[in-house]
Amino acid sequence: EGYRPQASLAAYDPALASAIADEVVRQEAHIELIASENYASRHVMAAQGSQLTNKYAEGYPGKRYYGGCEFVDKVEKLAIERACDLFGADYANVQPHSGAQANAAAFMALVSPGDTVLGMSLAHGGHLTHGAAPNFSGKHYHAVQYGLNPETGEIDYAEVERLAREHRPKLIIAGFSAYSRVVDWRRFRAIADEVGAWLLVDMAHVAGLVAAGLYPSPLPHAHVVTTTTHKTLRGPRGGLILSSHADETLYKKLNGAVFPGQQGGPLMHVIAAKAVAFKEAMSQDFVRYQQRVIDNARAMASVFLDRGYDVVSGGTDDHLFLVSLIRQGVTGKDADAALGRAHVTVNKNAVPNDPQSPFVTSGLRLGTPAVTTRGFGVEECTELAGWICDILDVLAEQGNSEAVEAEVRDKVEALCARYPVYGDAAPLAHE
Ligand code: PLP
Repeated sequence: EGYRPQASLAAYDPALASAIADEVVRQEAHIELIASENYASRHVMAAQGSQLTNKYAEGYPGKRYYGGCEFVDKVEKLAIERACDLFGADYANVQPHSGAQANAAAFMALVSPGDTVLGMSLAHGGHLTHGAAPNFSGKHYHAVQYGLNPETGEIDYAEVERLAREHRPKLIIAGFSAYSRVVDWRRFRAIADEVGAWLLVDMAHVAGLVAAGLYPSPLPHAHVVTTTTHKTLRGPRGGLILSSHADETLYKKLNGAVFPGQQGGPLMHVIAAKAVAFKEAMSQDFVRYQQRVIDNARAMASVFLDRGYDVVSGGTDDHLFLVSLIRQGVTGKDADAALGRAHVTVNKNAVPNDPQSPFVTSGLRLGTPAVTTRGFGVEECTELAGWICDILDVLAEQGNSEAVEAEVRDKVEALCARYPVYGDAAPLAHE
């Protein structure tokens, strides 16, 4: 029998629909400070929820292993052209299903199993895919890890240099999941050149800022750049590989590493959504948005400093910052839980010299991309940072912040109601 929609999703599958509806309410009624999250536009969601999900298109535009690809070819070409325009790249692969898969493909194209790679450790702000032991990057390659200077909270470039000279890696990975300063891409490239290594920059966290011209682009320095499309860039969940190294052999290797190396059929509906997101990111509105993201992060960080909290590296140049709670004797785990009860979502994060395990930690990572999308400005962010400090102060003094959590929860609810994420326009999955 053909597919004839007879009832809404809610009527057809109430168990699933109610979980989605609860998540929609959670997103509207909680304040999202997880630095890697954002709210995609309805245009992005419309493309992602389209019939393109039905299409197999293994291969690349014009060279597919399946028939009927004439329209998805147009979609993928649009996504590629826009990605190249947006970032000033001359090569883009829009097929990686995720940031992790973009990195896996880049590794596959650049190095062989057993080769030495040098990346930032997870505990210091790197990503799992930069050489962490439980990840493919740590299991199949000989991973050496650099980190932060414990005094400054900034990347220890002297250590990167020393480790590169000592271990002669074939690949150096720069980029981060939790770092609030501008990375010196040029210096990384100089180190890579000195030891004959490839430089891969994973700009997942700052891709939106880079697109807006508000954070230095790694494209002129790295041989290969990877990113996710769903963080500051505000597109659908997914990955992207870019390069402006003008090396056709490298581009062929990268394409081959994505398909058939790492993946089968591309997610054409997600590629369509990436194309929409790249169009959005070319607008002046997007540039203004990213400037507000930075302004909001700075405003929040300065409240923490004024209230006597340690901010790693003393501030921020991007969309996030790390608060160290070592001096207060509060764990990241407890702080995260207390804020969660007040409907403020953050994540615990290791900080330099952290005495706690990675599961407990002594820090919090806070980021402003999502709250800025829903409309918060410096005023709201300053107020919000104050409420967070109110909870942390009491948690540090008394070990229990229940009463103040309840007060903050009421204020959070009122603020969220003033700044709806999708407003009356119900998200598609919910329709
Ligand atoms: N690279 C960096 C720097 C990240 O922060 C992340 C995700 O947090 C990833 C890659 C992985 O992206 P994904 O979750 O899409 O696999």
